[in-house]
Amino acid sequence: MIELRDVSKIYDTGKVQVHALKKVSLRIEEREFVAIMGHSGSGKSTLLNILGFLDKPDEGSYLLHGTDITTLGDDELSLLRNNIAGFVFQQFNLLPRMNSLDNAGLPLIYAGRKDFKSAAKEKIAQVMLAHRESHFPNELSGGEQQRVAIARAIVNRPLILFADEPTGNLDSKSEEEILSILEDLHRSGITIIMVTHEMEIAARAGRILRMRDGEIISDEIVRKKKMIRTRAGMSIKDILGKKHSAFGTAEFADYFHQAVSSIVSHKLRSMLSILGILIGVAAVISMVALGEGAKESITQSLSSLGSNLLTVRTGSHRQGGIALQTGLVTRLTMDDARDISRMNEVRRVSPSVIGRAQVVFNNRNWNTQLWGTGVDYATMRAAVPISGRFFTADELKVRKKVAIVGATIIKELFGTMNSVGQTIKINRINFKIIGILPVKGASFFHDQDDAIVIPVTTAMYRVLGKEYVDFIDVEVRNQQMIDQALSAIRNLIIKRHRLNPDDQDSFEIRDVSEIRDLMTQTTMTMSLLLGIVAAISILVGGIGIMNIMLVSVKERIKEIGLRKAIGARRKDILVQFLIESSLLTFSGGIIGIFIGCGISILISLMAQWSIRISLTAVTLSSMVSIMIGIGFGLWPAVQASRLNPIEALRYE
Ligand code: ADP
Ligand code: MG
Repeated sequence: MIELRDVSKIYDTGKVQVHALKKVSLRIEEREFVAIMGHSGSGKSTLLNILGFLDKPDEGSYLLHGTDITTLGDDELSLLRNNIAGFVFQQFNLLPRMNSLDNAGLPLIYAGRKDFKSAAKEKIAQVMLAHRESHFPNELSGGEQQRVAIARAIVNRPLILFADEPTGNLDSKSEEEILSILEDLHRSGITIIMVTHEMEIAARAGRILRMRDGEIISDEIVRKKKMIRTRAGMSIKDILGKKHSAFGTAEFADYFHQAVSSIVSHKLRSMLSILGILIGVAAVISMVALGEGAKESITQSLSSLGSNLLTVRTGSHRQGGIALQTGLVTRLTMDDARDISRMNEVRRVSPSVIGRAQVVFNNRNWNTQLWGTGVDYATMRAAVPISGRFFTADELKVRKKVAIVGATIIKELFGTMNSVGQTIKINRINFKIIGILPVKGASFFHDQDDAIVIPVTTAMYRVLGKEYVDFIDVEVRNQQMIDQALSAIRNLIIKRHRLNPDDQDSFEIRDVSEIRDLMTQTTMTMSLLLGIVAAISILVGGIGIMNIMLVSVKERIKEIGLRKAIGARRKDILVQFLIESSLLTFSGGIIGIFIGCGISILISLMAQWSIRISLTAVTLSSMVSIMIGIGFGLWPAVQASRLNPIEALRYE
């Protein structure tokens, strides 16, 4: 059945080359019980690993049922290990976080068998451990652990059982139990190849090979093999042709279970690595919510700006974005406003002054922004009173002491009392409240409702003591006339103030639509910046996950080795670790979504900023976090899957 021809194995440790096997040739027939003996370091394990498809020879050929298997690839060897061989190691190599039953059933998962529970149960019973089914390895004695390992080795009904000093770590009573189990298995038709260095144990076999320095020095038949029951074996071609079932649910459930238990058994570490993604996702969601909210509130305040508006204001020299008040400043006057209003292109005009004022009602005091405006300000700037009325042209002419107040003033001075008709003092002068301004809300740190509007003349001559207006709002008849109006107003001011060409920067005319564009641009830039910052934190989170996965892979190299030894293919290992890292990132992402939404709502409650949680941001960031989990988990997973089973098993 097995034939080795001139097989050599050389270990190259860099400094020295060890010839572990030197042109070994060997035939082993079906249903033999072979013991391999020899001193430590004579090459027994190396030979057994090659026989058991765990390692490949450097030279020579290995014929299995006449097929040379030295040319087979990694995954094909996995198939052979899974279907033909069962391995029992000196160190048991049970997976610590699984109970006996799951440990025994593990090879069936890679065989894609759904009935692995019942098959594992049967084998556990066969090694007389039915009462220890749900015990974990650390709750079992050495002998019991080795019996579980044997159950695992035979669960997929192998043709050959390989055992490398199976009793090396056991007391003599357990040793006897293990040996009698092996003999039973042999009697049932399984070929057994066992390494040992005790004559007593070797004597239980039918054939003894002795090794020294990588060579077989003797080969004796102790007992003629009895022809017992024969077992219909699968041919190698059948096995290699066997399609591995894609990914069975059992397999997936096992990975999932593994991932969860690995995450749970390292709570702190997992939490820290989740934290990165969590913060990233939360940041993306809350930042985008903030940006969107800002955009919305800006759009809202922009809509109160009215359309086709130009603003003429006292100018400033601009150099590289820095405003410098130098040289001549053109003082705008009420007469400028009057002349502008007479122009053809212009529909309405409102001259304005701004200042601060102390407002008093009874014993209440409030410092606020005072606007002196023209009559048309109400319509031009969406400030038509929601109750009461605006002042009239006559009232403006006679500098009447009437005021229209914002919601914040009412709240601060009157509470809930009706304030229209009341008299307040503005900078110690009595004013009558004739109307209430519409609520505009806060934009960023500025409360737009904290304002009082009075006639511009009253403001200039009675309250603020100004002789000039600060700016003049101009509403052009229609959009097409804006450019024309712009230059007409410019010429008018130049003429009225007799400005030299040099002094033409001493005033400026702004198109409100420009401001609108500028503000929209600014918010977009802000959203983008916030988004980038948040995206970077997701990336950092991903790197954290990769780090953890690398550690996790390192830590479980032995486990990976064992899984490969019992038939896991590269893909199986890959998927297992990918599931783990995806699970980590996914849970981080989910918690991040909740925290992100929470933070957004909290900010909107505390800072009174408007917030808009965007579904796009939520879906995008959770998708990105999953992709990062897979992306960053891939590298450690690939590394894990490439490991050679024997090197992995030897890893400390
Ligand atoms: P045995 O099982 O008979 O004790 P091994 O087959 O384990 O012997 O080892 C045979 C020789 O090969 C020994 O000299 C050992 O040091 C060497 N050897 C085994 N495995 C490796 C390895 N992975 N790297 C380097 N040398 C090794
Ligand atoms: Mg050995």
